[in-house]
Amino acid sequence: MPNAIVVLNAGSSSIKFSLYLHRGETLEPDVVGHIEGLYTGARFVSKAPDGTVKAEKSWPAGFELGHDGALDHLVGHLRSELVDDRLVGIGHRVVHGGQAYTQPVRVDKEVLSQLEAFIPLAPLHQPHNLAPIRRALERAPELPQVACFDTSFHRGQPDVAQMFALPAELREAGIMRYGFHGLSYEYIASVLPDIDSKAAEGRTVVLHLGNGASMCALQAGRSVASTMGFTAVEGLPMGTRSGSLDPGVILYLMDQCGMDARAVEKLIYSQSGLLGVSGFSSDMRVLLASEKLQAKLAVDLFLYRIRRELGSLVAALGGLDAIVFTAGIGENAPAIRSRVCRDAAWLGVEIDEAANAEGRHRISTDASRVAVWVIPTNEELMIARHTRRVLESTEGGHK
Ligand code: ADP
Repeated sequence: MPNAIVVLNAGSSSIKFSLYLHRGETLEPDVVGHIEGLYTGARFVSKAPDGTVKAEKSWPAGFELGHDGALDHLVGHLRSELVDDRLVGIGHRVVHGGQAYTQPVRVDKEVLSQLEAFIPLAPLHQPHNLAPIRRALERAPELPQVACFDTSFHRGQPDVAQMFALPAELREAGIMRYGFHGLSYEYIASVLPDIDSKAAEGRTVVLHLGNGASMCALQAGRSVASTMGFTAVEGLPMGTRSGSLDPGVILYLMDQCGMDARAVEKLIYSQSGLLGVSGFSSDMRVLLASEKLQAKLAVDLFLYRIRRELGSLVAALGGLDAIVFTAGIGENAPAIRSRVCRDAAWLGVEIDEAANAEGRHRISTDASRVAVWVIPTNEELMIARHTRRVLESTEGGHK
């Protein structure tokens, strides 16, 4: 019997979902959508992959649907969408798998409580990622659920890439560089063999440039280094996150400026990055269109840090065969791609400006020593694939 997998990505105020159907060996998206405003009057929309709206619903302003109410609504809707297919499982995006989870895992009550133990490592995301898992375990314990982590893909990195130079007992206590955006990088690594076999077998740096932005060095498709570390605030400046800071800045803010941990958290997660530097927007489109000096400075700083991190990741790889751009800015901002490539000319990167402006797949010239690609990421499909694999391996097949 054909089967269906739901993929959920639950944040603090919204749940994004998609429904995939098994069709032979492939997984095809059937429905995508979201419920947002979970605590302020929710809005639900469900669409076919071509964008046609299949269902919509709004709750009154101020009504708190919450994560539980949203999940109940979603599961009801998705079951009603299925005619010939059977819902065989839910795959969840979970930001943190700690040191323990190097692979996706089928979640039962025991695993859930282990994942709850990682909440202090990602307090802004982990509780929301876990909320629908808990609800579905209560409501439909027979429905298999699989947690797919943003950290797992990086667990194969060399020890030195995962360490801070702190006393050993702190590493044992979990203070290490985890790296994030792993599902995005894993998806890119999974499609690279069909696009560029040299890059797939060689040394590639992937730039995931969205609201959250990071970079990852791939050696033969495996992560060997990444710019994000203990949290998703390390590395590049992002929409509203500062990226790497001298830790002395934090101490100074706390000692001399009267800021407590919550105030620093707000500063480095929500008030910094492109928004903080420009003073008015975290949106790359707005900044690129602006004449303001501060907007230019924010973009310049973003590019400067990319240039430096690229050098660092290429050093970790010992050379470079390809660059891949992905996520909102990487996929849609030719001006940013052009400048990143021109800054990387010393590495043998030669951009084909016409191909870049037209939004082609390959944007380097034929003569370029380093191939440059634009590849749309697909974390949802990666989660659906993982979920299918875990269910097949734990249940003897769902073909
Ligand atoms: P998230 O991390 O929230 O998933 P996305 O991957 O959707 O983020 O990326 C959002 C970012 O992509 C925003 O900064 C947005 O301005 C930028 N972006 C989207 N389209 C364009 C575009 N055409 N030109 C420049 N930036 C763009």
